[in-house]
Order: sequence, then C-alpha cells, then structure tokens
Amino acid sequence: MDRQQEFVLRTIEERDVRFVRLWFTDVVGSMKSVALAPAEVEGAFEEGLGFDGSSIEGLSRIYESDMLLQPDPSTFQILPWRGETEPTSRMFCDIQTPDGLPAAADPRHVLKRQLAAAADMGFTCYTHPEIEFYLLRSSELGAEGYPVPVDRGGYFDHVTGGVAQDFRRTAVTMLEAVGISVEFSHHENGPGQNEIDLRYADALQTADNIMTFRTVIKEVAIQQGIYATFMPKPFSDEAGSGMHTHFSLFEGDTNAFFEAGREFQLSDTARQFIAGILRHAPEFTAVTNQFVNSYKRLWGGGEAPSHRSWGHNNRSALVRVPLYKPGKGQSARVEYRGIDSAANPYLAYACLLGAGLKGIQEGYELEPQAEDDVWGLSSAERRASGHDPLPGSLHDAIRAMEESELVAEILGEQVFTSFLRNKRDEWEAYRQNVSPFELRRYLGIL
Ligand code: GLN
Ligand code: MG
Ligand code: MG
Ligand code: MG
Repeated sequence: MDRQQEFVLRTIEERDVRFVRLWFTDVVGSMKSVALAPAEVEGAFEEGLGFDGSSIEGLSRIYESDMLLQPDPSTFQILPWRGETEPTSRMFCDIQTPDGLPAAADPRHVLKRQLAAAADMGFTCYTHPEIEFYLLRSSELGAEGYPVPVDRGGYFDHVTGGVAQDFRRTAVTMLEAVGISVEFSHHENGPGQNEIDLRYADALQTADNIMTFRTVIKEVAIQQGIYATFMPKPFSDEAGSGMHTHFSLFEGDTNAFFEAGREFQLSDTARQFIAGILRHAPEFTAVTNQFVNSYKRLWGGGEAPSHRSWGHNNRSALVRVPLYKPGKGQSARVEYRGIDSAANPYLAYACLLGAGLKGIQEGYELEPQAEDDVWGLSSAERRASGHDPLPGSLHDAIRAMEESELVAEILGEQVFTSFLRNKRDEWEAYRQNVSPFELRRYLGIL
C-alpha cells in the first residue's frame, strides 16, 4: 500500500464515502463506471478489480476477456453533485491484463505510452483545451424535428434572463470542486452554445479532466432541467463545437517552443512540431474527428478549419500560433483547431503529440505560414499554396487512417484495428440511411 492509496482509504473513512466509482474509457471515448463499496477499495488497490473486457467497445478479444481495473489513487475525488452526506467519489483506472500488464487497448495507456516517448526525448507535454458545447431545452427534438437551444445568444453575449449565465457559474464552481481549474467561460457563437477553457495541465491530466468535464456539464444541465451536448454539429446553419487544444513542450522548466529573436519567437522544435502535425493531420483526422457528424462541422463553415495551413493570427488556419506578450515566452504554444468536442481525448492527444514528435525526430521542414484567409481562396489558389483539404467525410478519413503507419504505431495494433472496425460500421450504417434531406429534396420531384 503506498501513501496515496493510504490517503484515499483514510479519506473514504473520514468523509464517510458511500460509493467509490471506478472510471475508464472505451475506444470511442465513452466513459465507463463501476461503483465499489468502500470496503472493497483496499482489495482493488492490491489485486485490481476483475471485469469482462469483451463487453466494452474495443477493449479485448473474446478469448482474453478477463481484464483488471487498477485504480489510480492520484485521481481520487469526491463528486460534489452527489451531495455532501455519504458522498460518492471516483478514481480513474488503468486497465490491465490478468497478469498485471498494461492492456494494449486501454486509451489511457495509449496516451501514457506517447508521453513516455516524449519523456525519452526530454519533453513534458502540457495541454489546454477550449471546450465548446450546446445547451438545449431537452434531448427531444422540437416541432420541426430539430433540437431547441436554450437561448438565442451569440459570441460573448451576456444573456439576460437566459439560463446560460447561471449554468456557467454553477458548472465552473463544480469543476473547481473536483480540482479542475477554469480559465475562461463565455457564450459562443451559436444559440445556446457555450465555451469553457481549462487551465493547462500535463496531457494525461487534461484528458482525464476532459472526461470529468463532460460528466460535470451533463450533470449540471440535468440539475437545471436542460440538456448539454458535445455533438460536433447539431445545427446545419450554426457553428459546430470544436475543442481547440493548445500544446507546449517543456524541457525541465524551459518552454522548448520559445526562442527569442526568431520569427514569431518560434524555436526549431516548435516549427518541426507544427510541420509534423500538418503533414500527418489527414491520417489522424478519423481520431480527432471520429463521427459522421464531425465532417459537417469541418466542412460547414462556422470558423472550423478544413484545409491544412498554419498561421500566426489566422483563424482559418488548422494550426494557429497564438500571440503572447513580450517576456511571456513560457506561454509559447501551438493551437490545433481541427479537433472537435466529441473526440476520445486520450487517443486524439496521443495522435497529435505523436505526429508532432515525429516532426521533431525527422526534422520536418515547416512551409511558410498562410498569409490569407484560407476560406476565401479558390481551390486552385489553395492547391498552389499547398493548403490540401482535410478528409471530406468519415469515409475519406478512414481511408487515410488505414494507410498510416504512424497512426498504427501510435495507437498500437489492437486499438488501431478495433477503432477502424467501429468506424467502418458507423459509415456503413450512415450510408444505408435514407435521410430527411433526401426525402425533402427528391421525393416530390422525381
Ligand atoms: N466553433 C468553432 C469551431 O468549431 C470555433 C469558434 C471559435 O472559437 N473561434 O472550431
Ligand atoms: Mg476560445
Ligand atoms: Mg470558441
Ligand atoms: Mg481557440
């Protein structure tokens, strides 16, 4: 029993904790949870908790279905929305095989492996996500067959009398109560759309925080009698929900992306990292944008990026290098704007970091930044400047991923295969479906 485990046991005792939830994530990023009685926690620390991995998407093949959950005591938290008396708590878990080895199919392990690769190169990776989501009146569709947003506010609007004000206040308070620091929160462009930006943390902690964030937001919405969705594009004519993520690499206490006096104060490491992400983006887009609906966001306007480009202060760029004040070199970072709010954060961050590290290892050359608004160019102009498109659909993204040695290596064979299988099934189901769009468009005229 180590000190962190002892601390957890003591806290459970002192706070009279009633349930200890063990949390883990499947291959498409759905949270899984099993509740333990407090008396069982010590045993779970010592031996892990057995469960049937074959029932979890992407986890294991039938013939090796026995898996173990090993709770990570550093992630112990009381869950405030379950009340103060006899509270409920949670810990994130690592998944292990029966002989105690990390399970190849555990998304958390996939990210840990990539962070270890970064550490071998001398880097710690920090991330900071800007998470967008919609608040709807309910999960039911309105009279016209569309979701109904809670307000008609827009970017930075202060919605008088709207629920969003109170919602953000309650949500931010609850996030802080589970140890997640929030930097900004505001109304976003779409009606009922909100954004909450988390303070930077190391990439594994950020991915855990994103999973917790989604749960907190959904719980607060339920408490307020509304519904929250992280669906990438719930409305055809409104902005989608992105999860822009800022990355930085540190060598000890020094930001490895910063170099005084260079163009944009960007070091070679930063340039190679950006070049890696840009070169491999089409290959990992199926992971950062994993649903049929994700491509409606990427190709539906609303400030979502659709072509490969980078820029200093260019919001059409896929990769943006944010401005920072002189003397603030430690905050040098690279923002990836492609990823959406429904991605599995462990797998998506592993891909983004892995592609960036590849750029550094191979010394990729960075093309010049995009001077113009990439959306405003003709396709010939875009081709001439090397701004290739991202995949146009889940189908195209699957194709690009299938060919990718890099993504296979980052995810490991088991996750790579099961992820692709899941996505091919999704595409098949979509392809077979005759949609309301088609009925409206063709039924009356043909
Ligand atoms: N909602 C936009 C997206 O999907 C981002 C808008 C913004 O934050 N500038 O990426
Ligand atoms: Mg923002
Ligand atoms: Mg935003
Ligand atoms: Mg942003």
